[in-house]
Amino acid sequence: MLLRSAMLSQRSLLLALLVLLGCGFFATSLISYFSSRSSVRDHIINTELPLTSDNVYSEIQKDLLRPIVISSMMAQDTFLRDWVIGGEQDSARITHYLSETAAQQHAYTAFFVSEASSTYYQSKGVLKKINPQDPRDRWYPRVRDMQAPYEINVDLDMANQDALTLFINYKVFDYNQQFIGVAGVGLTVESVVRLIDDYQQRYQRTVYFVDTEGRLVLTGSSGGPDGARSGTTLRDISKLANLLERMPTPITGSHEYSSGGHSHFLNVRMIPELNWYLFVDKHETAALNSVRQSLYINLVICAVITLVVLSLLNAMVRRHQNSIQELATRDSLTGLLNRRAFDLLAAQALLEAEREPMPLATLMLDLDRFKSLNDTHGHLAGDEVLRQFSRVMESCLRHADIICRWGGEEFVVLLKEVDGAAAFAVAEKIRQRTEQLSFSYAGTAISMTVSIGLSTLQPDDTLHSLIARADHALYRAKQGGRNRVCSELSRSQHE
Ligand code: GH3
Ligand code: MG
Ligand code: MG
Repeated sequence: MLLRSAMLSQRSLLLALLVLLGCGFFATSLISYFSSRSSVRDHIINTELPLTSDNVYSEIQKDLLRPIVISSMMAQDTFLRDWVIGGEQDSARITHYLSETAAQQHAYTAFFVSEASSTYYQSKGVLKKINPQDPRDRWYPRVRDMQAPYEINVDLDMANQDALTLFINYKVFDYNQQFIGVAGVGLTVESVVRLIDDYQQRYQRTVYFVDTEGRLVLTGSSGGPDGARSGTTLRDISKLANLLERMPTPITGSHEYSSGGHSHFLNVRMIPELNWYLFVDKHETAALNSVRQSLYINLVICAVITLVVLSLLNAMVRRHQNSIQELATRDSLTGLLNRRAFDLLAAQALLEAEREPMPLATLMLDLDRFKSLNDTHGHLAGDEVLRQFSRVMESCLRHADIICRWGGEEFVVLLKEVDGAAAFAVAEKIRQRTEQLSFSYAGTAISMTVSIGLSTLQPDDTLHSLIARADHALYRAKQGGRNRVCSELSRSQHE
């Protein structure tokens, strides 16, 4: 019972430590993970993304805004306006002008549409007459009637096998501010898409443009978010629909949303020249991979430390417990069981013997005239004889027998599964060996004899009654002259 409760408390101590260490390590690892994660996030949101957005913006200025400037210059061009006012004579001159402009500015095409003659001139010659009823030409009346000086339109270019083209449509006025047509340049979208692909690769972000209506206008070759193609409304992209609802208007700024279990960081800025929003989207995983990896390494280290600490502690506690147990159950002089341990083991042996049922015998031993040995040879000699006598007893008994130092020079032995006759033989063996042996202390030989009382387990016996009868038998052995074994009296003898 003692042992079991000690084991239990040891197990609960280890468990408590495991929980404490585990929780402590886990909490600190998580705290450091979340704090590095939030600093990485802050860095992405406050520094990295705006910087990328700035970079992309400046690249756009270089690559996309230049055609606007060229178109604006065309709209202001004296030759163009004079030629129109002069009645559009000699179309070769305007064609030459347009092809030169396109070539110099690396645009795919340059064009002019005359209000007076409805003629569409472009760098390779006269294309056609504009017909406002034709769906393909609807852009023209729209540009003519709009307030802004120019627009950017992504459309099919008839002159280039209907390739998707980005047109800058600039209104042209004569010197009296009368509208005389629309001039501008066209870039194939393919080249703009390549430009976006290049940004995406260089900055490891998803880059796309959205117009003020919330439609995707331009994306890289692999599409926008979730591979969505140009023309898709952002509201139709499930992961962005929620975000858009939460975005302020205008939506310029940094935002965070999650999709597929991963966080995304989004930077949105208005490009007034294009009247489009530039979206730069960064996937969290790549940025936080190293942070997550260090969390895993942290956790593994913590688990190893916890295990090492616990196993060291377990070994220490066990060793300590064993020595305490040894102290608590053994007699320090002889190394035999003390009375406390004997009581526990004997009670258990009695229960087992009564349950089976099995015979059980008790010997009560007392060294003869021990007091005079102490007086003659000294107390230390007495101690040594007690030790040596203990070994004599052990040599005559089995491992399963329970031997206890009862007190002073008295001992009790419990012989399991042994009846009266066999017990008597064992007792006799101890007595004879003691008598024959010469005990020694500091070179002095000492003779010693022992008196033994014997009792066997009877129905309704308690440990107390069993020992009391053995004690009584011992008394008779002493009375009978010592150095002898006496069995308990049978019931009839008692009466
Ligand atoms: P008897 O034959 O009647 O048993 O005589 P006895 O002298 O052995 O009996 P008594 O009970 O008068 O004396 C026991 C002595 O044992 C007295 C005590 O000082 C001694 N003694 C008890 N414990 C120890 C011990 O641990 N070491 C030593 N050296 N002596 C002890
Ligand atoms: Mg005694
Ligand atoms: Mg004695």
